[in-house]
Order: sequence, then structure tokens, then C-alpha cells
Amino acid sequence: MTYPTYHNLIGGEWLPAASGKTILNVNPADHDDIVGAFPSSDAEDVNAAVAAAKKAFATWRLVPAPKRAEILLRVGILLQQRKEQYARDMTREMGKVLAETRGDVQEAIDEAFYVAGEGRRLFGQTTPSELQNKFAMSIRMPVGVVGLITPWNFPMAIPSWKLFPALVSGNTCVIKPATDTPISVYNLVQTLVDAGLPPGVVNIVSGSGSGAGNALVEHPDVRAISFTGSSEVGSHVAQRAAATFKPVSLEMGGKNAQIVLDDANLELALDGALWGSFGTTGQRCTATSRILLQKGIAAKFTERFVQRAEVLKVGNGLDESIEVGPQVNAGQIETSNKYVEIALAEGAKLLLGGGPLTDGDYAKGTFFAPTIFSGVTPAMRIAREEVFGPVISLLEFDTFEQAIEIANSIDYGLSTALYTKDVNRAFAAIRDLEAGITYINAPTIGAEVHLPFGGVKHTGNGHREGNGAIDFFTTWKAVYVDYSDKLQRAQIDNAE
Ligand code: NDP
Repeated sequence: MTYPTYHNLIGGEWLPAASGKTILNVNPADHDDIVGAFPSSDAEDVNAAVAAAKKAFATWRLVPAPKRAEILLRVGILLQQRKEQYARDMTREMGKVLAETRGDVQEAIDEAFYVAGEGRRLFGQTTPSELQNKFAMSIRMPVGVVGLITPWNFPMAIPSWKLFPALVSGNTCVIKPATDTPISVYNLVQTLVDAGLPPGVVNIVSGSGSGAGNALVEHPDVRAISFTGSSEVGSHVAQRAAATFKPVSLEMGGKNAQIVLDDANLELALDGALWGSFGTTGQRCTATSRILLQKGIAAKFTERFVQRAEVLKVGNGLDESIEVGPQVNAGQIETSNKYVEIALAEGAKLLLGGGPLTDGDYAKGTFFAPTIFSGVTPAMRIAREEVFGPVISLLEFDTFEQAIEIANSIDYGLSTALYTKDVNRAFAAIRDLEAGITYINAPTIGAEVHLPFGGVKHTGNGHREGNGAIDFFTTWKAVYVDYSDKLQRAQIDNAE
């Protein structure tokens, strides 16, 4: 089979990896379909990309922010025109169904338009000085060369959350896409180039996390790292980056709970649970992974949830009738299998699915049956650890307070959802759930780009994407202008 070969983008030139090695990008729904060959880069390529970004920073930082933003505005318009093609490329490289990959590209479009507006804001502050005839203000400065490391599950949206705010702030970037999903980053960066981004301002280095990723984190000229991925790798990245005192933004795993109270609109809660659990084949950081059911509705909800999940159509996401695509690779299938075994050994009851789908066309890809366990208790590993697949745990509780306690009893804190008609409980949950995001009467998935996105506990280290990203990609400078024409000493000349 013939397939295209892609190169790294370094200093405006498309170049193969110095080693000449490549990695194949294969469709997880059909292993005969090879999307392309991508560079397998290492430290040598990263060094070249960082040098190009450092050179470009000297001029990019001086481009007025509204002009930088105009490029992003054009990116949004170009992405609108290219949406269908890019969505199809994305479905081929990572499997999620077309409706969702269109949504992923749309998120990049939304982010482009949102961040384009920031070019005319990037507000600082003015404040009175304690001395006469002296002016004080704080202004935002770019950080410099930033390293961006992204996962495979939102292969265009997440890179856009990082690239666009970094660029509008005046930084230059080196991005390392996930090995499984380079083409969506290539499509995004090609759009930036077509919109007029100067050479060297964004550089792509494809390759493994341990090779290219590590080299980027450790590079002394990289001034900050923005990482999205697993908590395990995030912890490693933060520790490596600490050696050169780099600020690190970490967006990591989740084990998100949907709570359903007895008074909830049950059909609405079922719609939300189905979409939250099996959307992106359960491979979202915000995926619903635990469903907490109040005893009064637990039996009915469970019966209906299983009935609806068992008729979900699993298959190749390029077919518009398919509702659940494949898992991204064999490693994710192994993880799902491992957690099914763990759940069974812990005494959970398997109600649906429980293993890979391998018959007929399924044999060509990495498919896993929608899987539901009941009888899960909060102490079980299946209730506490991220699976990142279509494997759902149902837990039961008596009181609202117990539900909050169970929801909070894990290490993660990304997204939560509560279904109820009781406004008092809704507001109590908003206050008490330990999570970066809480939905009322909506599923755990569905973030919008202009709100802060991120989590607490092991999910994040305090930074936010969306509304909040500019804070990470800029650094504050305090500025004092003394127009008194004499030496004025703070804390001394104005003292009583
Ligand atoms: P990983 O942590 O495995 O990988 C994330 C990125 O880090 C990839 O580009 C990977 O490269 C790279 N990487 C791996 N090892 C290193 C290393 N030693 N140094 C530097 N970079 C490295 O996550 P996945 O891609 O599997 O994504 C799934 C995870 O991401 C889940 O835990 C999910 O919850 C989380 N996630 C969190 C989100 C959030 O906003 N909170 C959003 C989306 C996902 P390579 O691909 O080559 O391994």
C-alpha cells in the first residue's frame, strides 16, 4: 500500500528526522489503512527546532499582538473551510466517529476566534505609586520558546488550546504531537502557515515521548512546558522540568462521576450517561467513568442504561451510522481488558460487554465492547483508577451527602455531573464537589473554550486552559516610571 511521508517543520522547512527513521500512523478501525509515515525524531531534531524557535522569537515578540491575532482569525476561517477534510483525517488516525471529529475541529475554530479577540486585550494593570510623580503598572510579557506536548484523544482541539494562546502572547513554539495522532497537528500547523505565520514561530517535532518529548522538556532554552496527558507521564515531566526551573502546566487524568438523584429526569440522565460514557469510546479525560445512583432509581436506571448501551453501533467512525469507534491502539485494549479482570476479581458484576470485539470487520481494528459493571463499591480499583476506555462502573448510595463523599473519594478531580430538579442540592454540589468542572443536568463532557478548563488534585497543577491559558503563556513585568526628576526612595522618602 502507498501512503504519504510527512516531515518535521523546523524554521519554516519541512525536514525528515535526522536519523531518517519514521513511525507509521495506522487507522485503528482498519489496520490495512495507513494514514502516513511520520518522523521518529530525537534530541537532535528537538535541538534544531528549539534553535529555530529561539531565532524567530527575536522578531515575533515585536509583532503587535493585534497583528498576531489577525493570523489566528484567518486560521479560524481557513479551518471552517477545511473542517470536513480534517475531521476525516482525524477519524482515520484515531478512530472517533465523524460527528465527534467535526466537533474536535470546531473546537479549534472556536479557540481561534476566541483567542483572536485576546490580541486586543492582553490586559495589564495600572496602580497608584506610593510616591508623588511616579507611575506604576504591570504588563504581560511573552515567556519565550515554549514546548507543547499533546495527547491523542483531542488531536486538534488540545494543540489549539496551547498553540493559539501561546502565539497571541508573543511566544514561539515547538510542539510534539502524540505518536498516534500526528496528522491533526500537521493539519493545524499547515493552516497556521497558510494564514501567514512567519517561519520558525511554530515548529513540529514528531516522535516518541521518551525521545522527542523528553528532549523538549529538558532543553535549557525552552522556557515553559504545557503538557496534557496521563498523570503518570505528567509527574515525570514536572520532575524533569524542575531541573531547569521551567514552569509546567499539567492537564492530566480523570475518573469523572455522574450523580443521579431520585428526583432526576431519568431519560435526561440516561442520555447524559450514554454520551458521557461512550462518546470517544470512553477515551476522554472528562469521560463519565463512574455513575452514582440513588437507591430509589438505581434498578430502573441500570436496566435502561444496559438496554440502551447494548444497541450502540460499534464500528469504523467513517461510517455515519456508527456511534462508537475503536480504541486508539492495542495498548488501550489491553488496559480495558486489565480493568475488566480487576473488576471481576474485586467482585463487581458484569452486566454488558467485557472484552474486545474481534469477529468479521472488527478483526481489522482495535474494538472493545461497551462494558458496564454494577455492584461497584467506592474502595474498588475499578471505581478509583482511570481506565480510558468504554468500561463503566455503577455505584449506589442512600443520601446526597454520601454521593458527594464518594465522588470526592478519589485522587482525580476533573469533571463531575449532577442530575436533579432540586436547586438547593444543585448549588450545594457546585460548592462541595472537588473538581475543576461541575455540570448540572448535563453530562461530564462538553467543555466550551472560553471557560477555564482544568482540574484539581492529581488532575492538574493549578493552571487552566481556555480562559486562563494567557496567564500561563505570559509573565508579569512590574514597571515604574518616575517623572519627578529627583531620586525618590520607596519605603523611605514617603515614610511618616
Ligand atoms: P500520555 O501521558 O501517554 O502521553 C501524552 C503525551 O506525552 C504524548 O505526546 C506522549 O508521547 C508524551 N510523552 C510520553 N512520555 C513522555 C516523556 N517521558 N516525556 C515527555 N513526553 C512524554 O497520555 P495519552 O496520550 O495516552 O493520553 C491519555 C491521557 O491524557 C489520559 O490520562 C487522559 O485523561 C489525559 N488527558 C487529559 C486531559 C486534560 O485536559 N485533563 C485531556 C485529554 C487527555 P507518545 O504519544 O509518543 O507516547
